Amino acid sequence: MTIKTRFAPSPTGHLHVGNIRTALHNWMFAKKHGGEFLLRLDDTDEARSKEEYVTAIRADLGWLGINPDSEERQSARFDRYEERFEELKAAGHVYPAYETAQELDLKRKVQLSRGKPPTYDRGALELTEADIAGLEAAGRKAHWRFKLDHDTPITWTDLIRGDQHFDPALLSDPVIRREDGSWLYMLPSTIDDIDMGITHVVRGEDHVANTAVQIQMFHALGADTPDFAHEALLVGTEGKLSKRLGSLGVGGFRERNIEPQSIIALLARIGTSDPVEPIADIMTLVDGFDFSRFGRAPARFDDDELAQLNQKIVHLLDYSAVKDRLPDGMTATAWEAIRPNLHDMGELDHWWQVVTGPVTTCELTADDREFVNQAHDALNDLPWSETIWKEWTTALKQSTGRKGKPLFMPLRQALTGLDHGPDMGALLPLIGRDAALERLQNASA
Ligand code: GLU
Repeated sequence: MTIKTRFAPSPTGHLHVGNIRTALHNWMFAKKHGGEFLLRLDDTDEARSKEEYVTAIRADLGWLGINPDSEERQSARFDRYEERFEELKAAGHVYPAYETAQELDLKRKVQLSRGKPPTYDRGALELTEADIAGLEAAGRKAHWRFKLDHDTPITWTDLIRGDQHFDPALLSDPVIRREDGSWLYMLPSTIDDIDMGITHVVRGEDHVANTAVQIQMFHALGADTPDFAHEALLVGTEGKLSKRLGSLGVGGFRERNIEPQSIIALLARIGTSDPVEPIADIMTLVDGFDFSRFGRAPARFDDDELAQLNQKIVHLLDYSAVKDRLPDGMTATAWEAIRPNLHDMGELDHWWQVVTGPVTTCELTADDREFVNQAHDALNDLPWSETIWKEWTTALKQSTGRKGKPLFMPLRQALTGLDHGPDMGALLPLIGRDAALERLQNASA
């Protein structure tokens, strides 16, 4: 059996870090088992679904490297939902109801005031055909509920949460279709999971109660249930679901120069018993992916942890992985020289500017200016090579008696205009002979 998972966002907004995590785990599980990953756009809500979000969802997943093997759209499947709905109707699994939102609200309030759970009382099942005809004649339109089978307890073994039990009698029969004929999420999703051969449904634990209901829908539709994995939700460092996390997405990560690999490495591991590690190769993460590693406690998303991880990942990126993003003329050698100094790729231009110039010279003391002047002449006399820094500073050590910081710092300051930065041994050959001599001259003037 081919493993098949799906990620099913509604294109009513941008992806945020929570649903990126769900997408990632679906993708990883499928890849680990040689299976397929489907992107299903839950766009039954025609008013709120927007094409620009569809485009953005595809682009964000692409940027992250979470590439779907196929794509489906619920808006293309209304006929199919109608067909299966008619079957459920014929078999008595769905029923029309006419209560208004206010009536339902009132019923709930009464139940609560009596200390009862506010489940739907199935009042609509009491309606006679004559009642229904009367309501329809008065212009009332039905919404439709799925009739839960109260005699069959709902159980499943969740891949993360273990054995789950629900008493269907304690659940409300869910509304599956509105008065205007439009679909709520529950039934189309189940029909799709069946038709599209989904073997594993991986989603947040906010869907656990939906799963209980959907399991009965699978059965009513004559299908086996897939396996389920409900993961603990993502929280911020303050320990709760924050507004900020809900709006943090690929756009925000890109603005902060976070690499897709860093987001993947973090989201693959938080909330699991495996440590967060700087692993730039997604397939290494896939190999170790296992729902048995997932914990029940919320996964904590920490911006600082992401920034630190990102720095470590940048230090691991090969020239081939970044070459399209490097400034013009920047070679593999230059990348390797500068890379250890980067917190993120946003700093690259700054260091490349230090190499290519012009640099603003530091104010040096008279002593250091004199030293830099001598250093200029010494450099001028030496044959240029890739190891020039070593040869030059060894010669200067002998001729001036300087060593350590007093030897190196004025040279760094004269050559880069800064008192920190990449290893000078790697930087000097990149700056080149003529530019180096010119900078030394300017700094000693
Ligand atoms: N469109 C649903 C959501 O975004 C999908 C849930 C599911 O995975 O079944 O919540």
